[in-house]
This record gives sequence, structure tokens and C-alpha cells, in this order.
Amino acid sequence: MDCREEKTVAFVGLGSNLADPVMQIEQARSAINALDKVEEVAFSSLYRSPPMGPSNQPDYTNAVIKVVTGLPALILLRALQKIENVQGRLRTGERWGPRTLDLDLLLFGEQCIRVPDLVVPHPGLAERAFVIYPLVEIDDTAQVPGLGSIAQLALDCPLSGLVKMT
Ligand code: AMP
Repeated sequence: MDCREEKTVAFVGLGSNLADPVMQIEQARSAINALDKVEEVAFSSLYRSPPMGPSNQPDYTNAVIKVVTGLPALILLRALQKIENVQGRLRTGERWGPRTLDLDLLLFGEQCIRVPDLVVPHPGLAERAFVIYPLVEIDDTAQVPGLGSIAQLALDCPLSGLVKMT
């Protein structure tokens, strides 16, 4: 990474409940690490969580990665979507339906972004145990613009069936 370019700390949520979820998450981690201008800072444990929405689908495996990046947020989102597509993500239109890989841009520095394709902080962040707990595990000092500290969000968020995998 060019040391003169502006770097931003970003957090990305990873989730999968199809086609060997643990392998999907590991593959996505490698793909994120292979992106130009993106460097991993930390990677959480894997967590298992019950599905949101339709319950007739397998549990999810979730994790959060912290990166430092020289990419603008929208370019990073596009790169993440490419990884989803490569890993066979089918966009069926079913909200909260099963998926081989879901990558969400959770935080991008201290920026609040609201453009047609991207909302940051991710709108579901405050209520989702499977995002909050892996995130606080890797950075308990993180701040969520408009919502306060991730540590306080974790205190206020029930586990909702979330289990840390060994
Ligand atoms: P999903 O099906 O839940 O992965 O949602 C994907 C859609 O959400 C895409 O159209 C994205 O452009 C949009 N989106 C908006 N904000 C975000 C974000 N922070 N991270 C990932 N996708 C986002």
C-alpha cells in the first residue's frame, strides 16, 4: 500500500449458511486479503447464529474482519460483492434467504454514508448479535457513528442464540 494514500479502518461482516459455511468464510477471508489496497488487521472467532427471517434454513456461521484500506467505501463494497459472486452467491430476491456468502460493510472509519447502494454504519448493526459480538471481540474500542461505543452496544444486545465456535 502506498504510504501517502489515505487509509481507513473498516470492518466487514461475513456470513454463510450453505455449501460448507466454515470453508466459505475462510475462502472469503483469503479473497479479502488478496484485494489490492486492503490489509487485514484482525479476524474474529467464528460464531454460529440462528437464521434471521425464514427459519427453515440452516444456522449461519459468522465472523468479522478488521482491515485497513486505501480504497473508497463504494469501491470496497464492489470488491466485496465480486467475492460474493465468485463464491456462488445467488440473489434470489428472497429477503434473508439462505446464502453461500454475505459480506456487509459494517463500519468505514468514522464515516456516515448514505448513497443508493451503500449505507454505513450498516443499518442492522445495532440489533445483530452476530455482528456486534465478533466486532467487539477484535476491537472493543470501536465507535459506531451515531450509536456510540461497540462495547456499550454489546452490553445492550442479547445473545439471541449466538454461540462462539471453538
Ligand atoms: P444483502 O442482500 O443483504 O447482501 O444486501 C445487498 C444490498 O445491500 C446491495 O444492493 C448493497 O448495495 C446494499 N447495501 C447497502 N449498504 C450496504 C452495506 N453497508 N454493506 C453491504 N451491502 C449494502
